[in-house]
Amino acid sequence: MRLDKLLSNMGFGSRKEVKILLKGKACQVDGEVVRDVAKQVDPVAQVVTVYGEHVHYQEFIYLMMHKPQDVISATEDKYDQTVIDLLDPFHAHFEPFPVGRLDKDTEGFLLITNDGQLTHNLLSPKKHVPKVYFAEIEGRVTQADIDAFAEGVTLDDGYHTKPGKLKILKSDEQSEIELEISEGKFHQVKRMFESVGKKVTYLKRISMGPLSLDESLALGEYRELTEDELEQLK
Ligand code: URA
Repeated sequence: MRLDKLLSNMGFGSRKEVKILLKGKACQVDGEVVRDVAKQVDPVAQVVTVYGEHVHYQEFIYLMMHKPQDVISATEDKYDQTVIDLLDPFHAHFEPFPVGRLDKDTEGFLLITNDGQLTHNLLSPKKHVPKVYFAEIEGRVTQADIDAFAEGVTLDDGYHTKPGKLKILKSDEQSEIELEISEGKFHQVKRMFESVGKKVTYLKRISMGPLSLDESLALGEYRELTEDELEQLK
């Protein structure tokens, strides 16, 4: 890859800033000063240093975001801010994308990465990666709903869902529940409740596979996954 892209990706500033860095002879490749921004380097096989410090190349990034409402889980949108717009330039440089979608008004756990293979594995219907949601529901959620969800329910388009594990946290005019599902159909949680005559008024994803939302992240904040979290995910 180009030297300026490598250094920019690794947090040494914009391409323009990297150019200045290279002009100042700050960078060496295999012990030779390199000033050419376009020089092709193999960051794994070659030793790249900046001011004598070895640049450890990282191809992939893995971020956990606490997605807020009113932000779109996509890389681009004509009208609204996207989750990618919330990233700082260093992370945005890796050209990551969200793993799956949360609705505009859904909050919670969102994984953002540029690792296509991992994304494919997590989203593959064959893998049945469980996702757990917390929701507030208009109407009293009952044992009958637990039983219906355990059997799978029929959505408005005729699709019969896989079983969902429904747990009632509060059953009242306004109920609170947790629902675990292993699919990701469009508006699935909202439509599952619609199928039993109830309305989701607030929705938050609290986990995906082995990982739970880090509650110390404020809405809109994110952090890199730890090595341990990444290991669990792979
Ligand atoms: N189900 C929904 O209805 N919306 C989401 O954002 C995620 C799951």
